[in-house]
Amino acid sequence: MASGKAVAAGALRTVPLAGELTASLINRAADRYGLAAAHVLRLWTCRNSPTRHDGGGLRADAEVVLNEAGRRVLAELCGVEPQVLARALPAFTVQDAEISTGREAAVAQARWRAAVAVAGPAAFGCRLCTARRTGQALRAVRYLPRWRRVCVRHGRWLLDADAVGGAAGQAGAGRADEGRGAAADRRGAGAPGSVGPGARGPLPRPA
Ligand SMILES: [Zn+2]
Repeated sequence: MASGKAVAAGALRTVPLAGELTASLINRAADRYGLAAAHVLRLWTCRNSPTRHDGGGLRADAEVVLNEAGRRVLAELCGVEPQVLARALPAFTVQDAEISTGREAAVAQARWRAAVAVAGPAAFGCRLCTARRTGQALRAVRYLPRWRRVCVRHGRWLLDADAVGGAAGQAGAGRADEGRGAAADRRGAGAPGSVGPGARGPLPRPA
């Protein structure tokens, strides 16, 4: 419980983006406080470990599911009402029996899951749009169906959030998101990248 006070909760406001991954919001909130995501994640008792890319970097399509106590901690950290988070974050109200019931249900807990197993495929948000809306030079990750993977405003293709390392790590994006995002729980629904045609296949190169 004491860990919940490790960060002066709510001193800085971080507003969620529509459809954003909870893990992405935690990452941005950490950045607001000038902290690494790993540091802020200590606010929750994590029941499992995130998986990593072969190169060691954390996967950007990893999602975090919280229990009721954990949701309150995130709301405090972001300085917004839980209802605001519930409206914006598809995974926020997802129940995970492993952490929602039992003797320790009152402890703020988190579990890593593959985003696709929680609320669908995830993609990196447009960097320019994210900067405009949040004032942060961070890549947000959002749930987005494949047919909506274009930022019309900036004429950019939005890459799969699991396409971080290797060839798909587009200039800057891969580096920034690797290590910041998080990892996936392979027990979720198999390797997230294996879901659907084109999940790992060739993607249009960003301009
Ligand atoms: Zn854009």
